[in-house]
Amino acid sequence: MKYCKKCKRVYQDEMEYCTSCRSRKPLLPLTDSSTPVYLTSADGFERERIQTALTDNGIPNDSVIVEEDIMPASVKGYSSSWRDILVPYSAYDKAYDICVGIGAVKLEGEEKIIDEEPPAEEFEDMPPAKRTTVKILSAILFIIVAALIIFGTDAITGFIKGLFH
Ligand SMILES: [Zn+2]
Repeated sequence: MKYCKKCKRVYQDEMEYCTSCRSRKPLLPLTDSSTPVYLTSADGFERERIQTALTDNGIPNDSVIVEEDIMPASVKGYSSSWRDILVPYSAYDKAYDICVGIGAVKLEGEEKIIDEEPPAEEFEDMPPAKRTTVKILSAILFIIVAALIIFGTDAITGFIKGLFH
């Protein structure tokens, strides 16, 4: 594995240059397992959440302010507390799994690409049990609406007639 000395991102050996920052320097081989490497970026509570999860799992970690010129355009101006979270290379895989586990990984263009699912509708995000409940509720609602249409008209007509009697 290789890494970028500037932004600390990890790359496969066949990569020559960092694709994340504008560093012209070639990637360096990762020989020391204690080298801090880039895990993910986050700010505010999300960063605290990730770092707490890492610490809880015995992974040393640090967060550094993202340099202005390596900050993605989309992030600029969004938050000044945006930081890169770094972990020792030896703990990288474990740290990555933890981030996946807590749903905190938003890596782009890294050697580990998460299967980006197309934005699902809320219904799809629900656990199966809840989905069933929604189906049942929809069915009940449908019956109620159907009943209102069938019987409601008579009832309303009866009520109106009653008013004028
Ligand atoms: Zn870089």
